[in-house]
This record gives sequence, structure tokens and C-alpha cells, in this order.
Amino acid sequence: LGINILFIVVVLMLINYFVTPYMNLFSNMQEGIKKAYSGDFTHEFTSKVGGDAKNVVEQMNSLFRKMQETFGNIKYNLATFIPQGSVSSSDPLHEARTIISELSDIYKFKKTIELDGSKDEVYGRIIDILKLKYHVGHFAFFEVNNVTAERKLIYTTEEKPMCFEKTNKNALNCRAFRTSSVTISTEFPNLCKACLDTDINYVCIPFTINHDISLTVSMTSDKIEEVDLMKKNISSIKHYLEAAKPVIESQILMEKLKDTSLRDGMTGLYNRRFLDEFIDKILSQASRSHDTYAVLMLDVDFFKMVNDTYGHDVGDKVIVALSKILKNSIRESDLAIRYGGEEFLIMLHNANDEGMRSVATKIHSEFAKLSFDVGTGEPLKKTISIGIAKFPMDGDTIWKCIKYADTALYEAKNTGRNKIVEFKAAMFKSGEDF
Ligand code: GH3
Ligand code: MG
Ligand code: MG
Repeated sequence: LGINILFIVVVLMLINYFVTPYMNLFSNMQEGIKKAYSGDFTHEFTSKVGGDAKNVVEQMNSLFRKMQETFGNIKYNLATFIPQGSVSSSDPLHEARTIISELSDIYKFKKTIELDGSKDEVYGRIIDILKLKYHVGHFAFFEVNNVTAERKLIYTTEEKPMCFEKTNKNALNCRAFRTSSVTISTEFPNLCKACLDTDINYVCIPFTINHDISLTVSMTSDKIEEVDLMKKNISSIKHYLEAAKPVIESQILMEKLKDTSLRDGMTGLYNRRFLDEFIDKILSQASRSHDTYAVLMLDVDFFKMVNDTYGHDVGDKVIVALSKILKNSIRESDLAIRYGGEEFLIMLHNANDEGMRSVATKIHSEFAKLSFDVGTGEPLKKTISIGIAKFPMDGDTIWKCIKYADTALYEAKNTGRNKIVEFKAAMFKSGEDF
């Protein structure tokens, strides 16, 4: 019996000696894998066992280090798209997945609204997002004129607006607009004085589009859990508004450009007022996206003679004929402006040198082909001169480039007319002001 007991003890000790390190290794591995499930790859595997087990431990450690580094990078990169904190979770894997799916939704939204034809269509999409993605049951969507503080109700799910009457348009009553900060009724009793219903809770998000226009999303609910959800979604909703901002901005600009006071009555082209009022706005959008413009300044050669010899009506006909050629030679994103009497400015959007030259040559030759019947039997033929400068290659502001295109035109006039001249720095006397 003694020998047997001794034998069992020895066997147990041997088992303990050889098997325990493996048991420890397994439990250590289990612990690491458990942590990894929740996105934590910081676990360091250790083992007292040598041989293959040691190799496995080393491989696992190097794999985990790689994973940790990769997720760290992903998280860091994603944070540049969506501010951290908007998706808060202790699990970086879940966080990354949520952020990526949110980014992909916003990207699809942006691609869709870029093709929308009007500002109202874009507003409609924001309303759909509030309803379908965020399941907001009760809300109102306003557009506010920042300058006059007039507020326009774009859409509401309610029969009656919950804050000041539809007709009372003073947006300064709205706390969210006035303070430019999100207004949440649960934070302080009677927070916004404009709210007509004290039993209801609201989360109001103001959002500035540009100097002229802001939006306000006013969400309401009588259920506290719904308000909590609204609060959670604030930054996410703002991301959609942020994505819509440049599109709404350019739609506003497009609406303004339809204004007839910006067009010349005789030719239908934009006039000088358009140039003075809008070119900076258009260019500020252009410079954000690194767009370029080729600036062409055109002037009819010896035009005074047309008026003097054949009368003003014939002169007008020549101007209208030239404007038609201009309209037919440019694309929708280009601009044609009647700059002066028989002087025109063309701005070609993102044209390369070859495209710019081909448009200039086309205008030049098409105009030279025209014959005007002046009733004398001999048709009248005219020519134009063109000066070209490139924005921002020749000048860092559009006004400089217009000036340089004019300088090039002057050069064309002085060297025989009926030609196209591209601006060169040597043509311009430095020291001239803009
Ligand atoms: P150049 O080759 O140097 O350009 O000579 P030009 O005679 O064309 O000179 P300029 O460009 O200065 O001439 C402009 C003339 O255009 C002066 C003006 O009487 C005439 N003009 C300006 N607006 C109109 C208009 O709306 N209708 C007509 N018929 N003539 C106009
Ligand atoms: Mg002229
Ligand atoms: Mg002229």
C-alpha cells in the first residue's frame, strides 16, 4: 500500500510538473482571447513551456501587437472624419464598424444631394433622414435668414407649430438660433421662452449654412426616453447637415443667379453687377475645391466705325450676334459676362490650356465668319481681339486675372488687332494697383 501511495504521489507530482504550465497557458490564452473579443488587443501572452508552445505564444503576441497597432491607426484616421465621442464605446471594433457605416451613409447622402436640382429637394432629403434614419416622430425644420432674422417653416410633422406662431417671424425669439447652440429643454425649466407648450420636451439644433442662411431642426417629444435618443443623435444629425452645407450653399447661389437684375437685357448674358456681387462668392467656392478659371476678355475691333457708318441698330445686331456665339461656345459651368459696350468677359471653368485655346479660337473664327447685311449690297464683316489670363496661375485673385486679361487684350489691340494674346508677366507694368 505504501509503495502504491508513493507511486501515486510521484505520478501526481509528475503530472503537476508537466501539465500545469499547459493549463496556465490555456487559461492565459482564454483570458487574452476574451479581451480581444471586446476589441482589446493589449494582452501579453506568457508561458513557461518551451518548444512549440513557446513559438505559438510568440506568434500570438506579435499578431496581437499588429492588431492593436492597426486598430489604433484606424481609430485615429476615422477620428479625422467624425469627431471622437460621437460614437462612444469601450469596444474599438464596434466603434470602427459604427463609424465606417455612418461615413458610408453620409457619403451616399452627399452623392445623392449633389445631383438634386434645387435647395428644396435637398431639404426634403434632410427631412427624410430625420424621419427614416433617426425615427424622429415630431419635428419642425426651419430656414432662417441670418441678416433679417426672418424664419421660414420648411416642414413640420405637427398641425400647429410648437414654438412661436407661423406668422411671427422674428427668429431671435428662438433660443437655439439666437445663441447658436443646441437647446435641450431637460437642462433647465422653461429654457426657450418661445416654446408655447410647457409640457413638451424639445431638442433644437441650429446650423449655419453661410453668412445669409441658417437652419434649425426642432425635435419634440413628451417621452423622456425619446428625448434621450434625440440627444444621442445630435452630433450624428449635425454630420448630415455638414455634408449638405456646401450643396445648399451652391443651390442658394444658383437661385440668386437666376435673378434678372444680374442679366443684360440685350444679350441675356450676365452683367457687370453680377460680376461685382457674385464673382467673389463663386470664386471662394472654387478655391476651396482648387478649381481654375481661364479668363478671356473680348472686344470688337473698330466697333465705333460700325455705329458711325451704319447706325446704332447695326451695332446692336453685331453685339447680339457675338453674344450668341459666346453662349454656344461655352459649357454650363463657364460664365459669360457683358463687361462693357462691346466688351465681353468669359470665364472657362477648369479648362486646360488646350481647351482654353480651342474655345478662344472657335469664338474668334466663328465671329469672323459672320456677315451683316447693312443694306448697301456689300455685307459687313468684323473681327474681335481676345486677351487671356489664367486663374490662379497668372494672378492669385480673379480681379488680378481680369486685369491681366485686359492687359493681354490691350497688347492684341496694339499689335494689329484680330488676334488672341495670352498674358505674360512682361506685358504688365508692376506697381499698378488693383
Ligand atoms: P478697338 O478696336 O480699339 O476696340 O476700337 P473700337 O472702335 O471698338 O473702340 P471701343 O472698343 O472703345 O469702342 C466701343 C464703342 O462701342 C463705343 C460705343 O459707342 C459702342 N457701344 C457701346 N455699347 C454699345 C451698344 O450697346 N450698342 C452699340 N450699337 N454700340 C455700343
Ligand atoms: Mg472695340
Ligand atoms: Mg470696347
